[in-house]
Amino acid sequence: MSTDPMFFSPLVDTAEHHRDLREAVGKLAGGFGRRYFQEVVAKGEQPVQLWKALGKAGYLGAHIPEAYGGGGGGLAELNIIIEECAAQGCPMLALVISSICGPIIAQHGSDDLKKAWLPGIADGSRRMCFAITEPNAGSNTHRISTTVRSQGDGWVLNGQKYWTSAIDESESVLVVARDGDLSTPERAALSLFIIPTRTPGISWTPIEAAVRAAEKQFTVFFDNVRLPPEALIGERGAGLKMVFVGLNPERVSAAAINNGISRFALSKAAQYARERTVWKSPIGAHQGVAHPLAEAYIGVQAARLLAARAAQLYDQGEDAAEAANMAKFSAADSSLKALDQAIQVHGGNGLALEYGLADLWFIARLHKTAPVSREMILNYVSQHCLGLPKSY
Ligand SMILES: Cc1cc2nc3c(=O)[nH]c(=O)nc-3n(C[C@H](O)[C@H](O)[C@H](O)COP(=O)(O)OP(=O)(O)OC[C@H]3O[C@@H](n4cnc5c(N)ncnc54)[C@H](O)[C@@H]3O)c2cc1C
Repeated sequence: MSTDPMFFSPLVDTAEHHRDLREAVGKLAGGFGRRYFQEVVAKGEQPVQLWKALGKAGYLGAHIPEAYGGGGGGLAELNIIIEECAAQGCPMLALVISSICGPIIAQHGSDDLKKAWLPGIADGSRRMCFAITEPNAGSNTHRISTTVRSQGDGWVLNGQKYWTSAIDESESVLVVARDGDLSTPERAALSLFIIPTRTPGISWTPIEAAVRAAEKQFTVFFDNVRLPPEALIGERGAGLKMVFVGLNPERVSAAAINNGISRFALSKAAQYARERTVWKSPIGAHQGVAHPLAEAYIGVQAARLLAARAAQLYDQGEDAAEAANMAKFSAADSSLKALDQAIQVHGGNGLALEYGLADLWFIARLHKTAPVSREMILNYVSQHCLGLPKSY
């Protein structure tokens, strides 16, 4: 931890309680560390001990209201917690999922739903996954075809999702569905449902992915799944608006994973460059080695600033879309540069799993594509920030 040049950055953490939080989470996650995480992932298992320790310390529920067992903080705290875990070599996608589901339930769930779910999310004892992406809709959420129709006093759901992370270890799944009764050919009305994953009619098959993460990926099938009335979150047909409550936190949380990976990579690279000597001086004395690391550092600090600002705007109830999109975009790009350069600095050792870098590649690369692709972010910026016409 002491070799991490960005651990305490007055540039990023302006509040003392954020610095304290960063230090405490860093110590906790650092006690597990990269080797622990690599071994868990290699065995196809979950980082259960780390998860429990984070839950016990109150970090899994930092963004959940105090009235429901959480820490009463916001996205700013969650951003620090996720980044710090990743900076200690433990990038946890499960925390990104929690950053979507928690706020949606907290802002739009009934009191019963909040009581049922938020304390469990806060202490880590209950897990929920999130399913919006579909094979035939992709980035175009308006085109999703997983459809719910009312039947009796409840609902029936049919359709298919893919790339649903961690459904195998989740108690329930938050599904974004087309409301078949309200949609017209011109307009898809979306509704949100929380569905126990063991409900008859739900099945899933794994997707073999290159990402070395604890969370596995699945294609999920809904075949005449009967849902009780209380499965619905909030208002029927208002799903898109509700989903957006979770999408900006998801972007900031994804950025936090990548910013943590960047810090882990740059910290290892700087240490290696200070110590490794193959000519007369350490390799870090060569500007060919030092400058790309310095440039990566600048990119990562800029990405961290954007993430912190996006989280602050979100927590203040202001429009965080521009900042959250740009934070995720910058964190993905800057982490790939930082990680690639860290691998390069390590020479052949960069590709040895022992150094803990090469197997971070695809989880960092993931966030160039997910949860929203870089092209869709560029579309957003083109249209909303530059006022350019939309092509699609
Ligand atoms: C490891 C992993 C975990 C994931 N976890 C989840 C999860 O838990 N839940 C979930 O719901 N989803 C999840 N996803 C899905 C992820 O959010 C999507 O892959 C992502 O949103 C992109 O959608 P798509 O794959 O359908 O790509 P597409 O929408 O088919 O896009 C393909 C390419 O075309 C480009 N493109 C599309 N439209 C435009 C346009 N208008 N202008 C310019 N370029 C365009 C895209 O940018 C992209 O490069 C996960 C994905 C991965 C890989």
